Order: sequence, then structure tokens, then C-alpha cells
Amino acid sequence: MEKIRMNKIVEMDGDEMTRIIWQTIKDELLSPFVELNTEYYDLGLPHRDETNDQVSIDAGEAIKKYRVGVKCATITPNAQRVAEYHLKEMWKSPNGTIRAILDGTVFRTPILVSGVKPAVRSWQKPITIARHAYGDVYKATEFRLTKPGRAELLFTAEDGEQRRATIYDFECGGVLQGMFNKDTSIESFARSCFNYAIETKQDLWFSTKDTISKQYDQTFKLIFEDIFNREYKAKFDELGITYFYTLIDDAVARVIRSKGGYIWACKNYDGDVMSDMVSTAFGSLAMMTSVLVSPDGNFEYEAAHGTVTRHYYRYLAGETTSTNPIATIFAWTGALKKRGELDGNAALVRFAKTLEEASLAVIESGRMTRDLALMWQGDVKAETLTTDDFIAAVRKELEARL
Ligand code: NAP
Ligand code: MG
Repeated sequence: MEKIRMNKIVEMDGDEMTRIIWQTIKDELLSPFVELNTEYYDLGLPHRDETNDQVSIDAGEAIKKYRVGVKCATITPNAQRVAEYHLKEMWKSPNGTIRAILDGTVFRTPILVSGVKPAVRSWQKPITIARHAYGDVYKATEFRLTKPGRAELLFTAEDGEQRRATIYDFECGGVLQGMFNKDTSIESFARSCFNYAIETKQDLWFSTKDTISKQYDQTFKLIFEDIFNREYKAKFDELGITYFYTLIDDAVARVIRSKGGYIWACKNYDGDVMSDMVSTAFGSLAMMTSVLVSPDGNFEYEAAHGTVTRHYYRYLAGETTSTNPIATIFAWTGALKKRGELDGNAALVRFAKTLEEASLAVIESGRMTRDLALMWQGDVKAETLTTDDFIAAVRKELEARL
């Protein structure tokens, strides 16, 4: 069989167990079938340290150039990692760096297989969470107050005009927090969500607490509404999809009663909490994909989980591991599908879809990694495979289907 040719995508290698799996996926499931054409960036922690993290910035810029990237999970350094890797500095999360360059929104979608039943019985289709990954409580300024006094909110405009309001006259100690968001960031968030809804032909829900937060959350609601009406309504009508705004508490109730099959856009904190809730209820982080979409249509695909450190230490000790490679396989297939769609490369799209189908077919035949075997409720009995044996089974299934 002749290998499928493709235009360039950005490949970002990563750390620990996922770095090992990354290589196996390329060797076993991709390179034998596709003339892989990637611009390679090594975001493994040692190389980030060598380049003073310039490589993360270069990778982000490259995604803007080629429009499609695929990223392996990476270590976000903390004090312990600084010591472990003898780092020059506690480098920032590459995901944060790339997100800032692309100004993007992260969409997380569970991968469903029969045999892993969602905790919510009515869910039949995936629920995609779109999390606004900028500002609010994540960039807040906080005080712990230990004596009585007046707390005020003060804004000084560039032209000197001031706005001041009393927040509370404290008669005792307490806590105080100031947070913000920006119109430009909310607008990018809105456009990324509307574009992704069109891309995936799914309804878009958006929820905030605008009845209580009459300026802050209300602004999110109004910006979404305005951009939708001016730029996206016609396209949504044409595709037969809807944009729907509701209060966050109403949204929670509706989500639990729903069948799934839509995108739920959330403010930063809501998205943090709800994506963990939704992924756990669907089964596992190992079965969850994540794509960063910029408002001007660049895409970066990755797994939602981390570098699976505990498994890596076992691997280093010479043990075989049963780490689930599905989310990383789907990061690759997501990127290849997108490359194929953008270029009209039907063979590449077909290959990526077939690889996804083959991967899920192996699981549905009862062969899976340990994490899935532990929660398996399928008709056939679960057989636990090592990562390598699982990937080998997918390879066989893929070859049979191609
Ligand atoms: P993690 O790597 O997601 O792993 C947490 C636990 O979840 C694992 O120990 C494992 O449980 C289970 N798990 C996750 N993925 C799995 C898979 N594919 N197959 C089987 N089990 C899986 O999270 P972490 O341990 O908190 O973080 C490890 C490193 O990853 C950290 O350095 C963190 O900075 C980084 N991280 C990176 C990203 C990213 O690049 N996007 C995201 C999150 C975290 P058992 O051990 O019980 O089997
Ligand atoms: Mg979280």
C-alpha cells in the first residue's frame, strides 16, 4: 500500500509516560500508513529548560503558521520538578503559553465506548465543555483581612476619571477579592465557541449567573448575544443548530436530564469544575480529548490527561504498564482529520477515522487497558492488556480495515 501524503502539521512532543506512548503510536499506528509530515518541537521538560522555554513560544507561533498542531502531555513544573530536573527556572505551563499565543478556548469531549456506561443514564452522546481559560478568579487579587475597616472598589481611568464604590464596611476580619475580565478575551471566547459549534454541527449552550452578577456576568451574556446575532445567526440557521443562553443553575439541571450531543460553554471557574464533573461522569480522563481553538481558526489537539507520572516510574523500574493510549491516539487523529479537511485530503480523513474506529472496536471486543477494565460493564468479559499489546491489537484491526 502506498503511504498517504499530507501537508505539514506541528508536532509537540512531551514528557514521561505519554512521551513513550507518543513514539509507539507514531511507529506502530501512523508512520506505516502515512508519510508523516510534521514540524517537530520537543516540549519535553529538559529541552524546554535548555531553550529557556523558547521552544514553547516557537511551537505556538508555528501553529499559527500551519493552523494545525498535535501536542503530547507535558509536565507543568512545580518546586519538586525543579529539583528533579535541575531546572534553571520554574517554567510556565506550555499549555498556558500556547493558549496565550493563540488566544484560544479549550474544548473537551469524552470518547464513548459501549461497555463504559456514563454515570448519568440519560447521556447517549458526548457533552463538550468549552472553558474560557482567561481571567476571573484565576487572575484575582485577594486579601485576608484581620481587622475592621472599609473595603472599596476603585477604578482610575487613563484620563484620570475615577469610579469608587464601597464593597463592605468590615466590623470584623474577613476576606476580599478583586477580579476582572476583558472584552477582547470574552469576544475571542465567544467566536471560538460559535466557530466550534459550526465546525462540529452541534448546538451551543452558554451559562453564567447574570441575575446575580448584573454587570460582570451580564457582560458575558451580552457580548455573546451581540456577536451571535451579528456574525453567526445566519450560519446557525442554515445548519439547523441553535445557540441557547441560560442561567448556570438551570443549565446544570438541563445537562443532567439531557441526552448529550452539544457544547456547553462555561466561564473559567465553571468550566474548571464542570469539565471534571462531566469527564468523571462519562468514565475517565483517559477517554477525553481536548482541542484548543483560536478565534481565527487554528487548532491544537491533545489528550486531556497529564503525563501519567506514576506509570512512568513503574516503566523506568522495568515493569510493563497498562496506560491507556486512546486520548493520545485521538489527539493525532483529530489533527490529521483537521489537516485533511482543511486541504481536501480525503484519504487522510478516511485514515484518521478508520484508526479511531479500529481503536474503539478493540475495546468493544473486550480488550482494553487496566483503567477501563476496572469499570467495564460490557457484554463480553474484559481482558486487560499492556499498552504495547493494546496498540498491537489496534494495529491489527486497523490493517484489517484499511
Ligand atoms: P495524570 O497524568 O492525568 O494522571 C493522574 C492519574 O490518572 C494517573 O496516575 C492514573 O491513575 C490516571 N490516568 C491518567 N491518564 C491515564 C491514562 N492514559 N491511562 C491510565 N490511567 C491514567 O495527572 P497527574 O498525575 O496529576 O499529573 C502528572 C503530570 O502531568 C504533572 O507533571 C502535570 O503537570 C502534568 N499534566 C499535564 C497536562 C497537559 O499537558 N495537558 C495536564 C494535566 C497534568 P493510576 O495511577 O491510579 O493508574
Ligand atoms: Mg480542574
